[in-house]
Amino acid sequence: MTDAERAARILSQSMGLSYETLLQKLKDGSRSEIVLARRVGKDAVGRIAGADIDGVYYARDDVRFYPYASLACQVLGFTSYDGAGVTGIEQYYDKYLAGEKGEILYDTDLVGAGIEGATAAYLPATDGLSVTLTLDYRIQSVAERVMAEAMETYSAKAAQAIVLDVTDFSVLSMVDLPSYDLNDIPRDDLGELNARSRNHLVSDVYEPGSTFKIVTAAANLEEWLAGNPDALSADYIFSSSRTRTVDGTTIRCWSDHANGKHSHQTLAEALNNSCNPCFVDIALSLGKETFYEYLAAFRFGRATGLDFSGEAIGMLLPEQTLRECDFARIGFGQSIAVTALQLACASAAAVNGGKYYAPRLVKTVSEESGAVLLRTSPVLLSRPVGEEASRLLTSMLEGVVRDGSGRKAYIEGYRVAGKTGTAQKYEDGRIAQGKYVSSFVGCFPADSPKYLVLVIVDEPQGAYYGSTVAAPCAKSIMEGIIDIFRIPPSEG
Ligand SMILES: [Zn+2]
Repeated sequence: MTDAERAARILSQSMGLSYETLLQKLKDGSRSEIVLARRVGKDAVGRIAGADIDGVYYARDDVRFYPYASLACQVLGFTSYDGAGVTGIEQYYDKYLAGEKGEILYDTDLVGAGIEGATAAYLPATDGLSVTLTLDYRIQSVAERVMAEAMETYSAKAAQAIVLDVTDFSVLSMVDLPSYDLNDIPRDDLGELNARSRNHLVSDVYEPGSTFKIVTAAANLEEWLAGNPDALSADYIFSSSRTRTVDGTTIRCWSDHANGKHSHQTLAEALNNSCNPCFVDIALSLGKETFYEYLAAFRFGRATGLDFSGEAIGMLLPEQTLRECDFARIGFGQSIAVTALQLACASAAAVNGGKYYAPRLVKTVSEESGAVLLRTSPVLLSRPVGEEASRLLTSMLEGVVRDGSGRKAYIEGYRVAGKTGTAQKYEDGRIAQGKYVSSFVGCFPADSPKYLVLVIVDEPQGAYYGSTVAAPCAKSIMEGIIDIFRIPPSEG
């Protein structure tokens, strides 16, 4: 830098930057090279190049462009200014996506000034590889639209959805609203950026409530079929009482049991009515040791194995110190916290014949030529239940959608199975009045499940039951999938 004043004057005029700040930077002799500005427009670069300022040069920059703006933004993640993955797939697969930086090598003297007459050597950059996701942008678009509408209708705080291919655990859609536009990342507001870029489905936990009854029912059916005398048979009739007293604590059903609908229930009817005491009975009769083996096989309290950073493992009270009344509540999805992804995967394993695969977001890694360097394949992690228990459970869940609390997810001519959930939220260890999480998890076709949809509406206003708020969203997403793939109605 031979003439800092002249350089600062021209640069401040060309780029609209402060003359004083520029001059201060240019006169700082402690560093041989500093970046004055990034993402400078073409016009400004033309003015700077024309002025021929000694010691100033510019380099071409890459800009990521997102044609779908905010679509799947938390899954994709974002990069730093120089292209390094900071969150999401950008971070997890950075080693494939990054490529290698090019270099310009030139001889300098001791203080870093270029030596006159020396020629520079140019080492070209290598492009990064392409990563193809398992997400289907059409399903993603439908699911984002449906959840945005639900969020508005119920003035909800947040809304999420996952669509999973239950046959191999490819993630087909992950919706997490509110979102943000990847072309306009709120980098200046770190709090806002962290909140919006976080993948809440993977990194945050919630109390699932009644959707968790799928797990309890699956464990019971498997034990019953295996001949465990402690398991309750499929035609066992539960006590009609609204309450169960465990360790001196009284646990109530959400229903007052006044109209007789919760009397003489079998397991199928207990699922239809989402009757809490029945699931207390199941958990207590199976016992902690057996039940916790199922929780482990369904991967609660551990990572699902998704190819994504920052996965939470949930909150599972340790078996050794578990109080009986807390254990009883786990039977119907309280006193346990899970990620949405964990619940989706456990439900998928419960209905797909009992196979728990590691969920996946990336299908292939390929070169620009299209040559595939890496193709992911399903990895079987556990077999929590067998095919017979899975088939029985799915037919019971089909009943929930046909005759029970999941009716608003029913699609004429199609076989949909599912379960609703309505959970109260906790703040500082106490129930937060009027704050609920409405959810629904369902799959179709029930005779050979392919698509699983989990919907979560966080703090809906007005209506708050999963049956009213979440089930219709799942129905709309499934109808979208039927349209996309032109899936014909089931026979009969
Ligand atoms: Zn009940």
